[in-house]
Amino acid sequence: MLRQHPPPLIDSHVHTDDERLKNDRHQVLEDARRANIVAQVVPAISHRLWPRVQAVCAQQDDLYACYGLHPCFHDEHETSHIDELAVWIGREKPVAVGECGLDYFIAGADKARQQHLFSAQLALAREFDLPIVIHARKAVEDVIRMIRSSGHYRGMVHSFNGSKQQATRLIDLGYKLSFGGAVTFDRAKRLRELVAQLPLDALLLETDAPDQADANHTGQRNEPAFLIDVWQSISQLRAESAHDVASATTTNAIELFRLPLVNPA
Ligand SMILES: [Zn+2]
Repeated sequence: MLRQHPPPLIDSHVHTDDERLKNDRHQVLEDARRANIVAQVVPAISHRLWPRVQAVCAQQDDLYACYGLHPCFHDEHETSHIDELAVWIGREKPVAVGECGLDYFIAGADKARQQHLFSAQLALAREFDLPIVIHARKAVEDVIRMIRSSGHYRGMVHSFNGSKQQATRLIDLGYKLSFGGAVTFDRAKRLRELVAQLPLDALLLETDAPDQADANHTGQRNEPAFLIDVWQSISQLRAESAHDVASATTTNAIELFRLPLVNPA
C-alpha cells in the first residue's frame, strides 16, 4: 500500500545530470514523481559540469542546482575556478554550494590542495549565506575542524559514514546528515545503529543516484525513485512511524535549502 501512496519525499543529494541518465532522464524523472519525490537537490562536481547541471535543472521545476568543486576531481580544478564559482553563484542563485569537501580515500589524495579548495568553498557559502553540501570520506575529523575555523554553520554531510560522536559534533555545529543506499544493507550494522539514534530533525534522505544503489537494487543503476527504499529502511530502524520520518526529513530539506515548497504531509 505504501508504495502506491507514498508521502512526499525529497532526494537531498542526487546527480540527475549524470551521463548515465542521459538517454532516459525523462522517464527517470517521471518515475521519481510517481514515487512522490517532490524535489531533487542536484550538486555539480566540477567547473566543466556546472553548465550541464544548470541546463538539466532549468528544464524542471522540481530540480534544484548546487555548484561546487568535488574533492575527487582535483585534476580538473584550477585555482581560478573559485573566482568563477563566486560569479556563477551570484548569477545562478543555487540552493547550496557543493558538492565539495575532503576525500582521503582516493589514491594519491593531495590533502593540502583539497583543504585549500574546501576552505575557499566554505568561505563562499558563508559569503552568499547558502548551505554547503559536503562529501567527507575518511576525513570527517578534518571536515569538522575546517567547519569550525570557517565559522559557517549551515549545511549537510552527504552519505554520512562517521562515528556517533562525530555525528553529534556536526549536529551541534548546525549541520544535517544525509543517508542513502548504504543504510539499507543488513551488514551495515554500525551505520544502521547510528541512523536509528540520531535526532530526527538532523536527518535527510538521499539516493546519490546513479551511484550507491540500495539493497533492493544492487548492481543496478541507482535512480531517485528508489528513495522510497531508503525511507522505508530508515523508518524500520527508528521508533517513529514511516509517515513521521517522511514528514520530518522533507521539512528538514525544505528548511536547509530554503526550497520554495510547503511540506504537504
Ligand atoms: Zn555526490
